[in-house]
Amino acid sequence: MEKRNERQVILFPLPLQGCINPMLQLAKILYSRGFSITIIHTRFNAPKSSDHPIFTFLQIPDGLSESQTQSRDVLLQLTLLNNNCESPFRECLAKLIKPSSDSGTEERKISCLIDDSGWVFTQSVSESFNLPRFVLCAYKFSFFLGHLLVPQIRREGFLPVPDSEAEDLVHEFPPLRKKDLSRIMGTSAQSEPLDSYLHKIIEATKPASGLIVMSCEELDLDSLTESNKVFSFPIFPIGPFHIHDVPASSSSLLEPDQSCIPWLDKHETRSVIYVSLGSIASLNESDFLEIAYGLRNTNQTFLWVVRPGSVHGRDWIESLPSGFMESLEGKGKIVKWAPQLDVLAHRATGGFLTHNGWNSTLESICEGVPMICLPFVWDQFVNARYISEVWRVGIHLEGRIERREIERAVIRLMVESEGEKIRDRIKVLRDEVRRSVKQGGSASRSLDELVDRISIRAA
Ligand code: UDP
Repeated sequence: MEKRNERQVILFPLPLQGCINPMLQLAKILYSRGFSITIIHTRFNAPKSSDHPIFTFLQIPDGLSESQTQSRDVLLQLTLLNNNCESPFRECLAKLIKPSSDSGTEERKISCLIDDSGWVFTQSVSESFNLPRFVLCAYKFSFFLGHLLVPQIRREGFLPVPDSEAEDLVHEFPPLRKKDLSRIMGTSAQSEPLDSYLHKIIEATKPASGLIVMSCEELDLDSLTESNKVFSFPIFPIGPFHIHDVPASSSSLLEPDQSCIPWLDKHETRSVIYVSLGSIASLNESDFLEIAYGLRNTNQTFLWVVRPGSVHGRDWIESLPSGFMESLEGKGKIVKWAPQLDVLAHRATGGFLTHNGWNSTLESICEGVPMICLPFVWDQFVNARYISEVWRVGIHLEGRIERREIERAVIRLMVESEGEKIRDRIKVLRDEVRRSVKQGGSASRSLDELVDRISIRAA
């Protein structure tokens, strides 16, 4: 029997759905290896502790006002969180490490802190407590290495990209095309805060004890090899976290609509296109309507997640013309939030129109569901290029949110022989990635190394 309490790990997720999911999945993996888990989290987007009774949750104040929590400007939110959370985090850590003398308890031996690369103050805090810090990279690793390139690319004057060069590859950052750059790097007004934040991320990562990567050699070999030139610490690509052999549990901030599953049960195998743009992306009303009409015109069955507030100026889907849902004759279902892992694993799901967040991309690969790529920001452009041009397991919409383009992409994927070839390729990729977390696979070996490394201090 493992002495769980002697091997404690502290985790500190960024309060975004796409960062909370991997961190809690990592927590389950480490728990299954005998570590006790303490999660420090902000009040904003606090994870539901009742869904994870095996972990200890400690909340810290984050200082965000109500309007700041509603902001669509994620860079601003992350900057504010980093400014506001340092002292509360330090105090919380101090109490964990050095319980007060009157409690009679001895100073605790904590194995390490694991926190998201987007926290830029935690390295100095953990150093002050002599606590090893491991950084979690929840992006595709090639994009994380790309953090180094963004300011350089900006300095070298790639932007604005002339139309004649839009399709050219960015030699420093393949498989990106030059037209992706301006959308990743934002407007010139955003350039200073973005470049400065990226710089801080890299500088706060370099002195860490190691980097835990939610990817594997099968998906990221080139950049993992390249990383030796940049980082001197060990890197642990332990694969997609959610396919490790640990009990499933939800870390959704919104309540998943479980009616999706009995609804899918009624449909034929691989007949439904699932549509979700993740937890942050939002649409203007006309783009929302183009997607709606595009889906309807395919005459294919669709399951569409529209988060409340994700259509600008609207509460939910009230801009759909009256009679729209009825006109679908049961071929469409719209929900506020879906149990996405179950939806993708369902035999009726045949394709995924996605924004290509890294979690969604990995979840789709692991279920062998081919994709239609509609990236909105940031790493999503890199993921979409890998999907459409390197692994060739999806179709890129190239930002065209137009009903005919959407209809055409869905038909190509769901009906035409091109879709069959894409489906065959993603099954091969799925099998390779799933093999990586099985005993002896690259990601499984990496996890063993990580556990050994963390355990040294607890021994
Ligand atoms: N997700 C979900 N239900 C939904 C939509 C998304 O459970 O209806 C989950 C999805 O499985 C993924 C996460 O939310 O784990 C979204 O993360 P991702 O990196 O794909 O995108 P982000 O939300 O960060 O843009």
